[in-house]
Amino acid sequence: MPPRQKYRLRARSDRELIGEVEPGKEYVDKQTGEPFEVVGKLIPLAPSPSNLPYSVENLRLCGCSLEQLAQRDLNDCPHCGRRLPALNGEG
Ligand SMILES: [Zn+2]
Repeated sequence: MPPRQKYRLRARSDRELIGEVEPGKEYVDKQTGEPFEVVGKLIPLAPSPSNLPYSVENLRLCGCSLEQLAQRDLNDCPHCGRRLPALNGEG
């Protein structure tokens, strides 16, 4: 299955949901009944080699001179293309 673009949805009470969005479909918080508004796209944008949201817990430094962050499920640095070292006992 190809990767899908994920979006950040937010209700008035600041509850957030992350998921795929279908155009024209309404999303409602099942607990509060509040409508969700789409407040942003999650990066990376599809298509991306990573399935992980671009958030702190999923990132590591690629270790190259660019000192860029790469998602943990990637084998190669998306910035310089260098092979990333295997994770030791993590994730
Ligand atoms: Zn790199």
